[in-house]
Amino acid sequence: MGRAAAAPLTRRASPRLRGSSVTRAIRLIGDRWAILVVRDAFQGERRFEQFLERTGASRATLTRRLHSLAASGILVRAPSGESPGRFEYRLTPRGRELFPLSMVAWNWERRWAPRGAGIPMTLRHRDCGHEMRPETACSACGRILVLQEVFDRPGPGARARVPVRAVRSLRLSTLTGATHRGTQPALAHIADIVGDPWTPLVLAAAFFGLRRFDAIQREIGIATNTLAARLELLVRRRILERRPYQQLPPRFEYRLTDKGRDLFPYALVLNAWGDRWLAPPGGPPFQLVHHGCGQVIAPVVRCSHCHEPLAPAAVSSSGPGRRAAAVTQQSRPAVSTAPRPPSGAAASPPRTAPAAAGRTDPHAAMPPARWRRRDAS
Ligand SMILES: [Zn+2]
Ligand SMILES: [Zn+2]
Repeated sequence: MGRAAAAPLTRRASPRLRGSSVTRAIRLIGDRWAILVVRDAFQGERRFEQFLERTGASRATLTRRLHSLAASGILVRAPSGESPGRFEYRLTPRGRELFPLSMVAWNWERRWAPRGAGIPMTLRHRDCGHEMRPETACSACGRILVLQEVFDRPGPGARARVPVRAVRSLRLSTLTGATHRGTQPALAHIADIVGDPWTPLVLAAAFFGLRRFDAIQREIGIATNTLAARLELLVRRRILERRPYQQLPPRFEYRLTDKGRDLFPYALVLNAWGDRWLAPPGGPPFQLVHHGCGQVIAPVVRCSHCHEPLAPAAVSSSGPGRRAAAVTQQSRPAVSTAPRPPSGAAASPPRTAPAAAGRTDPHAAMPPARWRRRDAS
């Protein structure tokens, strides 16, 4: 493929979103219950009854999700070593590589999950012994990845256009009425937002700089009523904001809020996982390039203290705790003046980094609470 000029992601729409790895990844794990099952698998859960209790899913729903995750090669169903005659579900290597994604989701929830959701927990990196936040960086140059510094260009599979027919639809009531019924609330909020096959595509369109209804509709090939409902949901969740751009007749566009831009690392890591495991034979239809170093982006999710990549067994957590003194979404400063944690020479987050730079951590003073954790093997 020729080296077409890269354009900033935020300024040029990509016609290739429909064939992207994000789309493929969403088919496998872009489902609220799948996200929660994977979350619990990383906490060491293996048995049906455990998943049932922690996710709050119905038996029928959980059965379907476990089957589809096994069919997708994310979990493997095997006879239980502890209970003869019973089965358990374990993460495969493909499933285990979703760990960075769960770390990024955690980070987002710590900042944005609704008050009282019981989500926060402190993460500690066992390798360095410090409390930390997961941060998403470019593996080539070490800089924190931010939306403004990511460009796209055609990838080896640019010519193959894949329709979105395989993206399942989901009743919107499942999302708008979503409340967490399981015993483990962490990641439930992000699952409510991205755990629907369409919403992440609408978000991806926003990351590609698309703001107007018609443009988004053309890009992802979504029915107008479905798109209207998703946009409304994203506005209600303060991921997008609706702004007038024309008075007569009145027309509106949808812009990412800080909360929405903060989901960019999640999209990056999801895309990278999809490129690795789900890319079509011809390769990914587009590549994301880092402005800072010019390399194709391979995001690494690492410890904010020692900057080493995070592995499941090396992260321990405590919580959940109540956000007694939590800063509400409305009162959070858009730009934090909090000092950044010490950073290594390789990492120099841009001052505008929306997703990574130091910010007031509302959980820094959170009372510690034990949170059951067993290492996923
Ligand atoms: Zn780079
Ligand atoms: Zn560390």
